[in-house]
Amino acid sequence: MPEQAEGGRSPAGVDVEVLVIGAGVTGLYQLYRAREDGFSTVLLEAGEGVGGTWYWNRYPEARFDSESYTYAYVFSKEMFCEWEWSEQFASQPEIERYFQRFVEHFDLASLIRFGTKVTSVEWDTRTSTWTVTAADGRTWVARYVVAATGMLSYPYIPEVEGREDFCGESHHTGLWPAEGVDVTGKRVAVVGTGSSGVQVIPPIAAEAAELVVYQRTPNWCTPLNNAPITPEEQEALRNDFEQIQRTLNTSATGFLCPPPERLSSEDTPEERQAFYESMWNSPGFAKLLANYKDLLSDPEVNREWCDFIAAKIRGIVRDPETAERLIPKDHRYGEKRPPFVTGYFEVFNEPHVSLVSLADTPMVRITETGIETTDGHREFDVIVWATGFDYGTGQLRRLGVRGVDGVALEDRWADGPLTYLGVQTHGFPNFFFPGGPHGASANVPRYNTDQVDYVADLLAAMREQGYDVVDVPEELEQTFTGMIDQMSRHIPFTKISYFFGSNIPGKPVRNLLNPGGRPMLFKFIEDLRAEGYASLQLSRSAEVATR
Ligand SMILES: Cc1cc2nc3c(=O)[nH]c(=O)nc-3n(C[C@H](O)[C@H](O)[C@H](O)COP(=O)(O)OP(=O)(O)OC[C@H]3O[C@@H](n4cnc5c(N)ncnc54)[C@H](O)[C@@H]3O)c2cc1C
Repeated sequence: MPEQAEGGRSPAGVDVEVLVIGAGVTGLYQLYRAREDGFSTVLLEAGEGVGGTWYWNRYPEARFDSESYTYAYVFSKEMFCEWEWSEQFASQPEIERYFQRFVEHFDLASLIRFGTKVTSVEWDTRTSTWTVTAADGRTWVARYVVAATGMLSYPYIPEVEGREDFCGESHHTGLWPAEGVDVTGKRVAVVGTGSSGVQVIPPIAAEAAELVVYQRTPNWCTPLNNAPITPEEQEALRNDFEQIQRTLNTSATGFLCPPPERLSSEDTPEERQAFYESMWNSPGFAKLLANYKDLLSDPEVNREWCDFIAAKIRGIVRDPETAERLIPKDHRYGEKRPPFVTGYFEVFNEPHVSLVSLADTPMVRITETGIETTDGHREFDVIVWATGFDYGTGQLRRLGVRGVDGVALEDRWADGPLTYLGVQTHGFPNFFFPGGPHGASANVPRYNTDQVDYVADLLAAMREQGYDVVDVPEELEQTFTGMIDQMSRHIPFTKISYFFGSNIPGKPVRNLLNPGGRPMLFKFIEDLRAEGYASLQLSRSAEVATR
């Protein structure tokens, strides 16, 4: 059953010009841009509400690790000044409300179809259109498809024998039920201690009768140092909007934090300890972004900072064995995405909380009543899987995308993603995926909205030039992907992070981020704009050509 979009008139032969998939921070902005630029448009979303990450991850204490006002949109002064974040690092319910307000403020609701899971996206070379099909059989014929399906949006649960046998409740943090999970007085297992696990563990410990944390490997966790935003700070944010906007739109990391200037060697050992103390007490990502300039490049500096964190952990966790297990031994700081915590290490001093290291005693199977490791069996009422996501390509490879000659996207990317600017891939004309692989390595919404602006500007420029089909020449894609691979070889780290897909068995180990970050993206976009996008393969669809 074909659908007609409400976002303006569409040319003959298509239901909609710009079809967006995904109502997260990326897709909503793409929808807004398409509508503003005068394209007919519609957004399809599998969930029943907006927010993407912040719609699905409803677990207690799910919250930003980016400062709230740096994560939110900065293109509209009106919206920026209207919305008051209550905390430096807001929690999920407030974030979800923000995105709902965004839709209301810009009157986008009529363009969004909730409960619409896209199952196939097929290119028709004859008409230069995409046919997009939803799980319930509805179809749309679109000129352009923008899959803003998220990089951390396909939840991953390891294949442990007997997982389906468990008779209690079990939940993945990324698919947390809207009605919540009552753990009061219950025996709870949390599997995984990544960014989500370390957020959800303290609130569960506060309610549960017993909590066992199953840890594969520990991460370098440091305090989030959240705080309410005072009325004076709210006022300052509004007054400083232009400067905040400028910094967020141009800085390499997409954060406000200025890049570090000091080398560790400029300080004495005592000064370095005092500096690390100030870092420990700094908010969120400042510990990575405002630390010594040589933190990531000099292993000795990194080791000193890690030693400092390890000493903090030993100072907080009373049981020395537990403390040792919580200290990473397999990676340096920044090698994996650093999680930020509030009261995390402290919970291991509670008598009803214990830690099982799966490195020492691997999981054997899930039973009807609990979890068995090589050390024995424990019974639980609830199992929480905080085991992360199939990063970068998880959703895209499952979207049923078929390009020119019916080539499947997942086959073309069998050895890892091939992209140009992390937004297009050769042989899939008019198909874009901002926020996908080869994307942001810092404050995600900033990078993703750069990509959205690129796509939107490209479509507008093509319309002006009389084109409506764009593909990426294979050589361009090879150049970009080659640069990513080349730069990745020089990263002074191992490849154990999920940024390389290493958490998913069988997934090719390839860098799924753009190590050149925003500066590299800006440079490519600037060059393309300057040459009027001439390096891309621009053409006219049959329908336009015969008009
Ligand atoms: C718990 C958590 C905390 C995070 N905190 C931060 C942070 O503090 N700072 C930061 O920079 N980043 C953070 N991130 C990364 C986060 O993913 C991005 O910031 C951002 O949400 C990505 O937005 P997006 O719109 O690209 O994708 P998403 O927000 O993931 O939205 C994608 C949407 O696409 C929909 N979708 C997918 N497939 C289909 C389909 N087949 N059919 C229809 N709809 C589909 C999904 O339902 C989803 O709503 C966090 C991620 C997680 C999981």
